[in-house]
Amino acid sequence: MRILIVEDEQLVAQGLKQGLVQLGYTVDVASSAEEAESFVAAERFDIALVDIGLPRADGFQFIRNLRAKGEVLPVLVLTALDSMEDTVRGLDAGADDYMTKPYRLPEIAARIRALIRRSNAVADASLRHNKLCLDTRSRTATLDNQPLELTNREWAILELLLMASPAVVGKDKLVQSLAGWDKDITPNAVEVHVSRLRGKLAAGDVIIRTIRGIGYRVDAPEN
Ligand code: CA
Repeated sequence: MRILIVEDEQLVAQGLKQGLVQLGYTVDVASSAEEAESFVAAERFDIALVDIGLPRADGFQFIRNLRAKGEVLPVLVLTALDSMEDTVRGLDAGADDYMTKPYRLPEIAARIRALIRRSNAVADASLRHNKLCLDTRSRTATLDNQPLELTNREWAILELLLMASPAVVGKDKLVQSLAGWDKDITPNAVEVHVSRLRGKLAAGDVIIRTIRGIGYRVDAPEN
């Protein structure tokens, strides 16, 4: 999962980024609304964490512009503005959730998970397909109740595939979600990670099917 942080205070942004990267997210930082708009236009993110106090256009304006373009990207506002009026203004501008300082990483992470679930129409924090289970809270995977060791990249790919299931996930979307780790990640690199994942899943009842020219989807072996 890929996160865009929109924050002009570098210390705050880098601290948040570090915490989220340790949780396995890929993270990009934009230090202004203008920069964030160009990121969103060019790249694919799963959620944006938006500060309100930004130079020039503020966070409210950024969110309004986003929604005016029909952009459905989930937005969590993180701000020092703690009045009820500001919260109402943020949500009415199109934010999905609003947190005021002091905020702590475990709560931010839980809200991120909840917003990403909602945007993918997933009800449960455990993603399942047959005997494969990814618990997004503890970031642990099991296959037929046995622990399944996954690298960060493998986790990211499998999480996207399970959230989208039964839909196909485009290879470009997978490339984008890994882009924060490897600046020059290619579709071929995604194929390598998928191939390793297939090896790890071989003992179970879940396969990653290639849909030629489009991408991948999780499936049962016999289908
Ligand atoms: Ca600020």
